[in-house]
Amino acid sequence: MILGTGGTIAGTASDASDNVGYQAAQLGVGQLIAAIPPLAQRRLEAEQVAQLDSKDMDFTTWQLLAERVAFHLERPEVAGLVITHGTDTLEETAYFLQRVLAPGKPVVITAAMRPATALQTDGPQNLLDAVTLAAAGSAPGVFVVFAGSIYSAEQVRKVHSYRVDAFASADGARLAVVEEGVVRWFAARPQRDAGPAFDLALLRRSALTWPRVQMVFNHVGADGSVVRALLAHGVDGLVVAGTGNGSLSQSLEAALREAQAQGVRVLRSTRCDAGPVTASNEALPSAGALSPVKARIALLLDLLSNPAQR
Ligand code: ASP
Repeated sequence: MILGTGGTIAGTASDASDNVGYQAAQLGVGQLIAAIPPLAQRRLEAEQVAQLDSKDMDFTTWQLLAERVAFHLERPEVAGLVITHGTDTLEETAYFLQRVLAPGKPVVITAAMRPATALQTDGPQNLLDAVTLAAAGSAPGVFVVFAGSIYSAEQVRKVHSYRVDAFASADGARLAVVEEGVVRWFAARPQRDAGPAFDLALLRRSALTWPRVQMVFNHVGADGSVVRALLAHGVDGLVVAGTGNGSLSQSLEAALREAQAQGVRVLRSTRCDAGPVTASNEALPSAGALSPVKARIALLLDLLSNPAQR
């Protein structure tokens, strides 16, 4: 089952040599599949769930996507799913789907750095590789397949703004590679709990309002004024991307403690590219090894599950 959501993989440019001046989300998922001859031999179905540039990914689309993925996962004849997505927020959608659905079949997200019209577009090979992993059916959970590498939803990050090999695994190696239609695992396939730990019914409520979880950074001269502005504006949770091991300037920490005292949930992550924030009794709560954007998703889901904390 291939679900389309847009992105550069479905993008077109008027000039084939232009890798950056293009419109994302122009081609339908059926057109992407039709451009890859080997896929004609596969038993595939396609569904267009959304058509957007993933910089504009939103909660409504996430709800719809989770719903459609859950629906197709239930179908016995579906071995696995592929989702085509933009690269910009791909790691957020991957982590969201893993946390919300904990799929018992492979759900493989892929994308492209170059539009479909580029001289050397990367989308078709990425999509073919993603189908290879999804069809193997042997690795449950959400994965990202990109530039021949396979990453887990928990660890994957976009690490380059331009290069075709734009993703990496924070603090760890690639799980596997896809070579000529064969998946070669480097690490043991991740053991993941099948079946949702998150109650999907929470996303189905008609009057669902998502918690307001914002992000702030520690940096030279961080004085906490952003936190105070957010408190004045109204906020349910704050993720702070601290320096190093989650360290915070005295002024920023004071402002975050004020937020906590007012009932706002605070999670401390790091703006470093990798590594955890070690927990300590004195410090604000740690997000462990989650990147700031994934810590934000963890906090969003926690607040959705525990509305009393909002
Ligand atoms: N802005 C695009 C998107 O995320 C970038 C891409 O797909 O590479 O949809």
